[in-house]
Amino acid sequence: MVVTKRIDGKARADRLVADVAVAVAKLKAAAGVAPGLCAVLVGDDPASQVYVRNKGKSATAAGIQSFQEHLPANTSEAELLALIGRLNVDDRVDGILVQLPLPKHIDPQRVIDAIDPGKDVDGFHEHNVGHLWSGGANRALIPCTPYGCLLLLRDALPDPTGAEAVVLGRSNIVGKPMAALLLGENCTVTVAHSKSRDIPAILRRADILVAAVGRPEFVRGGWIKPGAIVIDVGINRVAASDGKSKLVGDVAFAEAQGVAGAITPVPGGVGPMTIACLLRNTLIAACRRRGQAEPQL
Ligand code: NAP
Repeated sequence: MVVTKRIDGKARADRLVADVAVAVAKLKAAAGVAPGLCAVLVGDDPASQVYVRNKGKSATAAGIQSFQEHLPANTSEAELLALIGRLNVDDRVDGILVQLPLPKHIDPQRVIDAIDPGKDVDGFHEHNVGHLWSGGANRALIPCTPYGCLLLLRDALPDPTGAEAVVLGRSNIVGKPMAALLLGENCTVTVAHSKSRDIPAILRRADILVAAVGRPEFVRGGWIKPGAIVIDVGINRVAASDGKSKLVGDVAFAEAQGVAGAITPVPGGVGPMTIACLLRNTLIAACRRRGQAEPQL
């Protein structure tokens, strides 16, 4: 039986934030200015408000200036695009983050594509997507969650060359960029999705399994190859036995024990890495805009 290692995303995220803070201080000393991150929130979704508040607090703690634009739910697409235009030319702002989801009357892709690609710290602009897929990841701003997964993977498996990697899920924010990053690491990559046939058989080939399917404990222990590295991106709220609720991932964590070589827990795995990578992207964007050397983080 395999001894399953728990990959501590919280500790890794704390290290990354500390490294970002050091590099922010160096940038301030060299360029006389702190990086700035502006979060744009449209409407009153409580979960989005919490996310934006947490991102702002984390940015400030790392020495990054935090700005917020909170617009009412009935804001028109034209008004939001006009705000993006102003932020694009605001020299205090190095990173623009539009909190998704947007109200239904606004086309999110149109908004994302209006962001200056150099300030697109979510890495969703087609310019950054193109760089990532054409092998120019070092010129792109890379989506935060998949980059966080990659950092955790590198700690668990320093050289994944030739490994069979399976990404379960093909969203633009997680699955597809994750596949591009794993290709960049010389893995043999399979992307599975809701139309894939025999998902258990596909998953059992995986030396590296990234689950981003959004279904609680979807991946069963028997679908995991013994010794595989499992990165669980899922965040699902389910009812707990005490009548309250709890968070679970996309992988049946208890069943993976004794099978997986290493696995990220939920919570405390990929989640903390996402915000840390947002701070990293803001720092990188600031260094590029201001002609300063980029730290390798
Ligand atoms: P999403 O946009 O809903 O995409 C889910 C993907 O899973 C789709 O590609 C879908 O396939 C596939 N899928 C759904 N049901 C399936 C099934 N029964 N069998 C096989 N594939 C199936 O979700 P997402 O935004 O990528 O997020 C995925 C999970 O990660 C969610 O739990 C989300 O909360 C979490 N998440 C966490 C973080 C973090 O910071 N930790 C960040 C982002 C997301 P089709 O394309 O065929 O529909």
